[in-house]
Order: sequence, then C-alpha cells, then structure tokens
Amino acid sequence: MSLSHNFPSYFHIKVDREICRKCKRCTNHCSYNALSFNGEQIVSDDSKCVSCQRCVAMCPSGAIRIEKNDSYLPPHGNYTQRIRNIIWSQSGNGGVLLSATGNDRPIRSIFDDLLLDACQVTNPSIDPLRETIETKVFFGRKPKKIVFSEDLEDPNNISLKTEFMPNFEIDSPIMIGHMSLGSISYNACMAIYQAAKKLNILAGSGEGGLHQDFYEYGPNIITEIASGRFGVDINYLQNAAGIEIKIGQGAKPGHGGHLPGEKVNSLISQTRMIPKGSDALSPYPHHDIYSIEDLAQLISALKEATRYTVPIGVKIAAVHNSAPIAVGIVRGGADFLTIDGFRGGTGAAPRIIRDHAGIPIELAIAAVDSRLREENLRDEVTLVAGGSIRYSADLIKAIALGADVGMCCMPVLIAMGCRVCQQCFRGLCSWGIATQQEYLVKRLDIDVARNRIINLFHSWNEELKEVLGAMGIDSVESLRSNRDRLRYIGPNPKIADILGVKHAGE
Ligand code: SF4
Ligand code: SF4
Repeated sequence: MSLSHNFPSYFHIKVDREICRKCKRCTNHCSYNALSFNGEQIVSDDSKCVSCQRCVAMCPSGAIRIEKNDSYLPPHGNYTQRIRNIIWSQSGNGGVLLSATGNDRPIRSIFDDLLLDACQVTNPSIDPLRETIETKVFFGRKPKKIVFSEDLEDPNNISLKTEFMPNFEIDSPIMIGHMSLGSISYNACMAIYQAAKKLNILAGSGEGGLHQDFYEYGPNIITEIASGRFGVDINYLQNAAGIEIKIGQGAKPGHGGHLPGEKVNSLISQTRMIPKGSDALSPYPHHDIYSIEDLAQLISALKEATRYTVPIGVKIAAVHNSAPIAVGIVRGGADFLTIDGFRGGTGAAPRIIRDHAGIPIELAIAAVDSRLREENLRDEVTLVAGGSIRYSADLIKAIALGADVGMCCMPVLIAMGCRVCQQCFRGLCSWGIATQQEYLVKRLDIDVARNRIINLFHSWNEELKEVLGAMGIDSVESLRSNRDRLRYIGPNPKIADILGVKHAGE
C-alpha cells in the first residue's frame, strides 16, 4: 500500500463560485500556493493552506472562507488530531518539527486565574481623569539607599551624595520583545522602532544586529548579545538604550538560534556581518560563559565598552531554578534581568522544546521577586517579564506579581496584521511581517503598522491607569509586587502558595 498520500488537511478553502469575479487577487496574494486559476475558475489545494487569511481579506467580493476541517479524523481523547498530525509529519520527514509563535497547547493561563482588587469605602479609589496616575518606570539599577551630604553650617544646603547608575526613563512599563531583522522584515522592524520612540518605551533588537537605518531609534532600543554575536561591534554597543546578554528565550530554553541561509539576503548579511546565503547559527551556550563569574566578566566588559552610560542586562528563560540563577545574575552586576516564560513567541523553534520546556512566567516572576527580596537585592535590578503577556490585564497582573516592566511580541505582531498562522519559520508570511521576500515585505505599510502599535500600547497604558485608579494606587511603581491586591480563583492551591497570593474570599 502506498504511504505517500497526505493526512487530511487542517483547513478547507471554500470559494463561492456564484460571487467569485475571477479577478485572481487571491491567487496573487497567497504566498503558500494554495490557490491557482485553471483558466476557468479558482482552484484550491487545501493541503497547502495555513489559514493566514490573506485571501479572505483581499477578495473584493467576499467569496472565500477558510473553514476548520475538524471532523476529518475519528475522534480520540488521547490520540488527538494534533498528536496524530505530529506523528504523521515525523513519519514523513524523519526530522525535528519546527514551529513558530508561542506554545499553542491548551494549557491554562495562570494570569486568567488571578483577580484584581478594587477599592470600596475605606481606601478611596482615584479618578484617573482628574488626578495624576504615574506610569513612568526607571529602567536600570537603583541604589540600595540614597545618601545626602550634610552641611553643618547651612542645614538648607543639601545635596545628593549617592551616585546613580544609568537609568532609562520610559513612559509606560512596556517593552516590545526582541525580534531580529531576519526573523521579521525591515518594514516590521521600522514600524516597531518608530512606535517605541513615539511612545517612549523600549524595543528589543533581537540577535541580528542593528541596521544603520535603525540607529536613530537607538535611544529606545535594547540591543542583544546572543551566543552568535551577530552584528556586534562598537557602534552597535554604543547606539543603544541598553544591552541585553541573551542566555535563554522562553520559546526555546537551552537552545540557540537558526536563520536559514536562504533568508540571509544582502540586507541581513550586512546587518549580521555574515556572508550572504550562509546559515546564521547561534550556538546553544555562549562558548565563553560557563559560570556566573564568566557572565559577570562579560557584563563588566560591556559596561566598560559603553563607558557606564547605559544599563546592561541578562535574559533567561523561565525554568525550574530561575530564582537562584536570578540572584547570581544580579550579584554578577546586571542592571536589569529579563525572564521569558514558556509561552513566549518565536520565529522558529523545535516544536518539542517550544511546547514542553520551561515554566509559566507567572510562577517565575513570583519566585524570582521573592528570592531577590530575601537576598535584599530586589531594588537593585529592573525585572522585565515576558512570555504570554497578551493584553493589558496580563501586564497589570505581571507587575502585581513582581515585574517592573512587561515584555511582549505577539500582541505587536497581531497589531501589525499577523493572523498567528505559526508559519514564520518558512519566510513566506503573506502579511509582510515574518519574511525577507521583497514582494511580501512591501505589503506591510510602515505608517499603518506603527500607528496600530502606538494605539495598542496607548490603550494598555490608559487601561493600566484605570485599574490603578480603581485600586487606589497612584503609581505603577506602587503596584509592583503588591500581591495582596491579587486573589487566586484557579483549581490548584499550590499555585497560589508559590505565587504568594491568597485565594478569592480570603
Ligand atoms: S494560505 Fe492563506 S492566502 Fe492561501 S488559501 Fe490559505 S488562507 Fe488563503
Ligand atoms: S507573522 Fe506572518 S507567518 Fe508569522 S504567524 Fe503571523 S501571519 Fe503567520
């Protein structure tokens, strides 16, 4: 018997031939070749469709619908369609399956099991329309205590003795996560950096270097030093708001990165400083970091290289022992610490790692925040948390659990038009976001994308103020680690214990 046939498709393309004008816009827009014109009508190949929804959006007569083919296999509670598809794909290609975006297993979000407190009688709420609610955050290392000089002859002559480490003032506790030029397009990067500048928040460069055109946005960009050291030179280091050493990433803890050679065009080759067409492989570990002492040396070297003018941080994936690792990193001199949870997004990751390695960010934030407090280190470091911050409610809960700043990528991609089809690693993104193909990149209008990101985070900031006001808190810094203002309604009391949050009703 032949085994070369395909498994049934995930999606079914329905073209209403009654209203189809045969204009062929859909065939031009489908970058996955799922649609074609046979001279008489539009014909479809369901097996190629990824439900990116581009054809649906582009069809002028609304003739196309993509339906989920959910009755295609006999149901089974254990061998779900998803698992059967994984087995079938592997028995076909014999390799490691790749995927993109965040972990898509239906694992319960702990953020969804947390409720926020609100004032009633004794501690009045604050009306954000009439009173100031501060959402600024200072990003960087803070002094343990502030000392003033004493002038015994003139008690009014008080001056500050404490020397402050470099801090970057951002208007909202938000950072757009690291998405490199290569994983996403030039237009997508440009829209992100322009939005970050306008909002005065931070955006990550990813590990692919920084194209010259983006240097003017450097004051709002945290550049990344990953194990591949792509695009790292003194200009890259000195044109940024801060530098982050990437040890781990939530979507692929313990893993490096791989940008296939076919995506390394002249733009990427120039920015990453590697030959055109060569694979950009970041090793799994940094081959010069095997201990906290090694890490501390790199932190110190980067501080020297930037003449102590910008904060230097470290990013780790949220794993079982994040708390002691975090303590080591802070003692090693990091000014900020980024923790990326197991639902964090990615342009390409082995599916087995993306879906099964790491821990939820909610637990990691609480564990790290508590441990840093126990060690009297908490105020020395800015804690950035990402990996499934989907909307403002998650951001607010992350801060209440102990983060200073929430980091996210997927909401930014969705704001730019991403339909979360999980095909970024193929470089064929029909929306011009996760691709380097010029004809696709042009589809993303930088101005529109930038404005949508600005609107998104403006909304988040307004909602943050609404919630702070309802809680009677006048600054986001006072919400940080304020876990008493959270209650747990989920099914597992052990989670509430780890979070340090009482159950609803308590
Ligand atoms: S892959 Fe996208 S554009 Fe192509 S048929 Fe499917 S939904 Fe339409
Ligand atoms: S960025 Fe593009 S390829 Fe990636 S999930 Fe979104 S729509 Fe799909």
